[in-house]
Amino acid sequence: MRTDTAPTIFRQDYVPYPYRLPRVRLEFDLAAESTRVRSELRFEPAPGTAPGTPLVLQGEDLELVEVRLDGRPLAADEYQLADDTLSLVPPGHGKPFTIGIVSLCRPAENTTLMGLYVSGDKLFTQCEAQGFRRITWFPDRPDVMARFEVLLRADPAAYPLLLSNGNLIEQAGLPDGRHQALWRDPHPKPCYLFALVAGDFDCIERTETTRSGREVLLQVYSDKGYREQTRWALDCLANALHWDERRFGLELDLDRFMVVAARDFNMGAMENKGLNIFNAAYVLADPATATDAAYRGIEAVIGHEYFHNWTGNRVTCRDWFQLSLKEGLTVFRDQEFSADMLAAGLPPAEAASARAVKRIDDVHTLRLAQFPEDAGPMAHPIRPDSYQEIGNFYTATVYEKGAEVIRMQHTLLGEDGFRAGMDEYFRRHDGQAVTCDDFVDAMESIYAQRHPGQDFSVFRRWYEQAGTPRVRVRSHYDPAARACRITLEQRCAPAGLEARQSPPPEKPPLHIPLAIGLIDADGRSMPIQWEGEARDTVVLELREASGTWTLTDIPRAPVLSLLRGFSAPVILETDRTADDLALLARRDPDPFARWDAVQETAHRHLQACIEAGRSGGPQPALDTLLEIWRAALKDERLSPAYQARLLALPALREVIDRGEPMDPQAAVAAWTRTRQALGARLADAWRAAYDALADDGGPYSPDPVSSGRRALRNLALDNLLAGQAPGAVELALAQYRQARNMTESLGALTALLQHAPQDAAGPLADFHARWRDDPLVLDRWFGAQAGAPGCTVAGVRALMALPDFSLRNPNRARAVVFRFCLDNPGNLHTPEGYDFWAEQVLALDALNPEVAARLSRAFDNWARHEPVARAGMQAALRRVLDAPGLSRNVREIVSKALA
Ligand code: ZN
Repeated sequence: MRTDTAPTIFRQDYVPYPYRLPRVRLEFDLAAESTRVRSELRFEPAPGTAPGTPLVLQGEDLELVEVRLDGRPLAADEYQLADDTLSLVPPGHGKPFTIGIVSLCRPAENTTLMGLYVSGDKLFTQCEAQGFRRITWFPDRPDVMARFEVLLRADPAAYPLLLSNGNLIEQAGLPDGRHQALWRDPHPKPCYLFALVAGDFDCIERTETTRSGREVLLQVYSDKGYREQTRWALDCLANALHWDERRFGLELDLDRFMVVAARDFNMGAMENKGLNIFNAAYVLADPATATDAAYRGIEAVIGHEYFHNWTGNRVTCRDWFQLSLKEGLTVFRDQEFSADMLAAGLPPAEAASARAVKRIDDVHTLRLAQFPEDAGPMAHPIRPDSYQEIGNFYTATVYEKGAEVIRMQHTLLGEDGFRAGMDEYFRRHDGQAVTCDDFVDAMESIYAQRHPGQDFSVFRRWYEQAGTPRVRVRSHYDPAARACRITLEQRCAPAGLEARQSPPPEKPPLHIPLAIGLIDADGRSMPIQWEGEARDTVVLELREASGTWTLTDIPRAPVLSLLRGFSAPVILETDRTADDLALLARRDPDPFARWDAVQETAHRHLQACIEAGRSGGPQPALDTLLEIWRAALKDERLSPAYQARLLALPALREVIDRGEPMDPQAAVAAWTRTRQALGARLADAWRAAYDALADDGGPYSPDPVSSGRRALRNLALDNLLAGQAPGAVELALAQYRQARNMTESLGALTALLQHAPQDAAGPLADFHARWRDDPLVLDRWFGAQAGAPGCTVAGVRALMALPDFSLRNPNRARAVVFRFCLDNPGNLHTPEGYDFWAEQVLALDALNPEVAARLSRAFDNWARHEPVARAGMQAALRRVLDAPGLSRNVREIVSKALA
């Protein structure tokens, strides 16, 4: 993994693997210090493979013991061992042959958490994308699919449970006192879906009946003593199973489906066939320890990994450039699952609002994480064309923008058409490793049937182009003709490093579905005559650089409600006035567009504040935003969950990102002042809401209605504290003391740390004393402090000096170091802050390059900053790039940032 020159891999260079691998047998002698792996790989030449074509296997950080060919041990000159490969020329007779390899790896020394590693006293594996090569030499690529048989041997005292993919065939004691378990996975799979787990666990399980009447066993494994915290995850798993049957007709293809919680994990979770391994943060929950948001996060991730069983495992990726084939699609599926779960059982109007809340949260994530990525040096199409380290491409673009691209296909095809396209995709490709084009082909086959003469040729450019397109909207109303003419124009500026290319790459127009509606000056919806009927919302399909639509029978001048439901991942440029936006912010019947209008109003205000600060001019008036907020807070027809979204100021990071140039300190000042002013001037309304939303004393439930009330109540408390309302501190202290769940106690603690740190000491000490032994809850304690404006670099260093801190545990590193670097811009953007970042990137890189590379992305957009921040960040990046022994992961990020 460590190298000075990282070769670039190109999508265009794909060549199929010359050998097939129908069967694999693996034997593990498991021990933390040293694990011995014996593999037996049955190869056959692929059709067309010439005799003498070398067989190349990947391996990393392994110790080779022996290599055999058809049972015969090979002499050292019969194979080549290079840095990360083992190659040999197989016999030229074109018949199947068997390679046997014995090798050793060292799980206890493996701090990368890729391959086989130790977490606590247990053993776990992580193989996606290229971790399997750290377990044994293997054709480590997703298009080589094999049937695996796995024999695990270990000391039963240390490792009473031995799990792998598929079905347990037999389990037995061994004469030497160890025990063994034999697992067989009936489904061929690429090695990135391999997993094993060994250790002592609690387990809860249940059987469910699939729609074809099969009984399947669902199990969730956790650390001893945490059984009661896995019930929600098991419920979510059962819900996911039935949802995929209902919505997509997809049934579980295994007799047994296991989820195991790991304390040390680089990402959220991993969809290994039949043996999902999860970051414990996405498994464990009970009312006392998990927030409402954590409950929803578990539902989303359990769903996501479960849905991968079809979209990812049954049909997998041909190569890693196709990652969005499985990730974009599976994110879309988990978003829909969450939305359906939120809406379940609610009357139609409330169900629509619950779904809109989910949509708002997803779009917010996209804008916060993906839009800046698409404007920076790491910008890439959802199907990248090249990479140095694939681990760096598990990005918001591949996942979140990828999901938007799937969602647009859903919009263009409709629910029925999309379902037909999915059916067609599985009919064509079940059991194969395929490409994004194969997916679009399946969808297009349905689209072309239903829209004769049309195809997805323009739409496919979404897979080829990086950058967030801008759509300029102009409208003109002609009262005499009662017609409204709408003109759309799209352009996509060079993204990131494209700006350096000469000539700049050509970016032809995309196929953009833009959902719009019209409202009149009183906020009433004005129906649009469209395809023979009157509709409130229509979708304009822009396929060229510009297009014009004339809507007729419009009695009065309309205000345009645009990008309803966020129908495409674009940035709008409109001629809407502040008054138009204010009308939409109060009255737009589309809940997404209404939220967006409030956000846009707040953004305009915040940028005006920043500008005023810079020019020394008067601060802009707050009245419009204030009145919109007051109305939203008092509108009893709205659900509290939706109100909580309407009344959230744009995240500080978004505000910084909008600056030209980006000026973090100015943004912090403007944002803080605005929060204070809004809090103070609406104090009475916030106080009334706070009191009205008090807990009814019933048992805790994470349902959308009660969690929405808690969200709005915590927001009220935050605003009361921000506005320094009399009695607010007492209110927060009382909420902390009386809290009946983690949402309430963390809400109080966070609000105190944000606005009244001098009063937070008591609750902080109490929280620590109470939760010091529960790592996930302790992460909250760390995180709330690291993200507070009072936490300086000295403060974050003090947190890291505590005995509870360790950089080796990714969740703890994220709670402290990442939280500080991502959510504490006022303190990060200082000379000490820049030093701190560089130092932590390097310290993490020595342990865990994947996690270090994520932290290194925090300075992606340094060049868009004002000169002082820009120079500080640039120097810190240089310092990292110049450090000896940098991983390929961090090197790729930092060298692209400085390119
Ligand atoms: Zn995924």
